[in-house]
Amino acid sequence: MSLLSVQDLHVRYRTRRGVLHAVDGVSFELAPGETLGLVGESGCGKSSLGKAVMRLLEPHSGSVRLEDLDITHLSPSELRPHRKRFQMVFQDPGGSLDPRQRISKLLQTPLALHKLGTVAERKARVQELMQQVGLRPDMAERLPHEFSGGQRQRIAIARALALHPQLIVCDEPVSALDVSLQAQILNLLADLQRTHGMAYLFISHDLSVVQHVADRVAVMYLGRIVELASRAEIWRRPAHPYTRALIGAIPVLDPRRVRIADKPMLQGDLPNPFQPPAGCSFHTRCPHAVALCRERTPALEEIAPGHTVACHLRDALAGRPEPAGQTGQVV
Ligand code: SF4
Ligand code: MG
Repeated sequence: MSLLSVQDLHVRYRTRRGVLHAVDGVSFELAPGETLGLVGESGCGKSSLGKAVMRLLEPHSGSVRLEDLDITHLSPSELRPHRKRFQMVFQDPGGSLDPRQRISKLLQTPLALHKLGTVAERKARVQELMQQVGLRPDMAERLPHEFSGGQRQRIAIARALALHPQLIVCDEPVSALDVSLQAQILNLLADLQRTHGMAYLFISHDLSVVQHVADRVAVMYLGRIVELASRAEIWRRPAHPYTRALIGAIPVLDPRRVRIADKPMLQGDLPNPFQPPAGCSFHTRCPHAVALCRERTPALEEIAPGHTVACHLRDALAGRPEPAGQTGQVV
């Protein structure tokens, strides 16, 4: 059975500029212990999807199930006893920690809220959590500002771990860190997963980060998943022009990859999400667009086992090199 099952999820925001369809019919499954990477430019709906999965916001329609529990419309009090099963780590480790609270108190709070253990057991658990995220246990008596950005992200991860969750939604967990720290935090997340077996929904605008951690990758564009496949398949046989552009934007270190896409080919900005283009919403930036693309929205269809793509030209493009001369800039 899937750990997480998201079916035809829609998230809408009513704003002064109109109704924004931040998540527009997204479906996917996540197995226990698996990492699904969710990638796309900022503004494509990744964070809204993550928040809806966490039930930090209520979706407009569709469903979110955690194993046998349908959490789509549970009230905060109905959700509370289940909160320990799914936790979240945010981009800004500073902003998600109370500056006046010592780390020991911060890490004990979720344990106390869920009435887990005696006071002595909670203190011991704090020591254990500090060690698990690579921090000295005595540092738990410090305040958040006494830690570096990388250490604060370790603390945020320790807090997410405290209740032994089955799922952690990581929303851009390394985007605020410099590259050497990014690798350390990604390796820590991978080690913790090997030891504790939780699943990750790992959100990032950076495909190279996602490729580092994910078992499978979902590529999002304007509220929809446009391609979903295993990490290896996304790398070897990217079929959607948007995925191919994201891969093309990664600096090439491996000359064998030049064959797939030696030039970034994504042109222009993300369209106004309040008025997404008709038909395939990527057609305004797609070098392969044909008349059909402007008229009909392509459905997400399977081109190989476990590899789905929403593009009218999916079969023609999968695994093919890009034509020469398609240059542009990825935002
Ligand atoms: Fe490009 Fe058409 Fe495919 Fe959309 S459906 S990605 S516009 S080729
Ligand atoms: Mg975001």
